Amino acid sequence: MSATPILSLYSHRPNDTIMLVQLRYNYRVYPNAPQRRALAQAFGCARVVFNDGLRARQEAHAAGLAYLKDTDLQKQVITAAKQTPERAWLADVSSVVLVQSLRDLHAAYRNFFSSLTGKRKGPKVALPRLKSRKDRKQSIRLTANGFSLRPNGRLYVAKVGDLRVRWSRTLPSAPTSVTVTMDASGRYWCSFVVDADPDILPELDTDTGMDLGLNHFAVLADGRKVDSPKFLRRAEKKLKRMQKALSRKAKGSNNRDKARKKVARQHARVADRRRDWQHKLSTQIIRDNQAVFVETLSARGLGRTRLAKSVHDAGWARFVAMLEYKAVKHGRTFAKVDRAFPSSQVCSACGFRDGPKPLHVRAWTCENCGTMHDRDHNAAKNVLFEGRRIVAAGRAETQNAPPSAGKTRMPVPAQRVEAGTHQDPQMRVVGIQVL
Ligand SMILES: [Zn+2]
Repeated sequence: MSATPILSLYSHRPNDTIMLVQLRYNYRVYPNAPQRRALAQAFGCARVVFNDGLRARQEAHAAGLAYLKDTDLQKQVITAAKQTPERAWLADVSSVVLVQSLRDLHAAYRNFFSSLTGKRKGPKVALPRLKSRKDRKQSIRLTANGFSLRPNGRLYVAKVGDLRVRWSRTLPSAPTSVTVTMDASGRYWCSFVVDADPDILPELDTDTGMDLGLNHFAVLADGRKVDSPKFLRRAEKKLKRMQKALSRKAKGSNNRDKARKKVARQHARVADRRRDWQHKLSTQIIRDNQAVFVETLSARGLGRTRLAKSVHDAGWARFVAMLEYKAVKHGRTFAKVDRAFPSSQVCSACGFRDGPKPLHVRAWTCENCGTMHDRDHNAAKNVLFEGRRIVAAGRAETQNAPPSAGKTRMPVPAQRVEAGTHQDPQMRVVGIQVL
């Protein structure tokens, strides 16, 4: 195996391209008691408008009527509804909240239709469903005329007031919209989508491949094995114990309710720590390498097996998404290597393919060249080689050089925000515009 002059493979960024990266920034918010009441009311009204709109569409469809125009639906479930005694209380919350909630419904229908006609790639999108007050997450969305950032650092939300925000990092530019959420453990968050300038790091001549697995969180092509830290495994163990204790409590009892809240809090704690750790790891990997390649695991395929739980716990998908947006932000190359690619069947030293090996085979000797292999390390090396091939063929997801100058959107599909599949990394790429 010879060292490849990889820098020439990656350094082809034209100097005159300007990239705009859209990132989502999340911050913790601490509303006081009256603000929490106002938010609860806003969440409720947003939900009611969404549901009224959905029912109106369902009824029109059942009656064989044409698809209602978005503007007509808005008049019906917001403007006219406020005049009725049953919905008069809609006037107590900001109308921006109601209009945005209905826009979310329109977007959900558009996604459904374009998925139906095949215009939209990826998994099929279902029809929107009624929202419930028991949903794990309650949220409102506001555009610029419904919120503002105060000079004293507070976030003004119309008809709610000035909210205290923990600004864990600086917003790179003025946001055009904000989403305020309450999660399952009763914590409040605000998130902004902003245009950001990429922070291109100096070019390096290193690249790496990664094998994400069950025995180790990740194995790198240089042989490094990364496991989740002890504090995280301890917190996860504690969570498992608490979940067991919860299942033993009688249904409907006060004790069960208390235990349920405790589990939710511990769950949030574990999720936060895991996310922080994944942020540190992904930042380091992107800083240390000009190109990063990852073998993608089909979480959906594994989801039907017993591995499902550990797959979701490991949070690979989110970790891969972090690598991807950080690669874009810092001018690195990133590519996913298809799972169909036989990373554990091929000798990374000589390329000899000696077929699939059962999962319990952790090490073997190549019968062609005699090299001894650690299964995961060999896989990571193969991922690196396959990644280099993908880059050479110009098929990488993110590259220093956009495919062509001119106004195009670069394909960074994984992090697009979809209703219902929302995870909450601190930052994520929403879209990239090359000007
Ligand atoms: Zn070999």
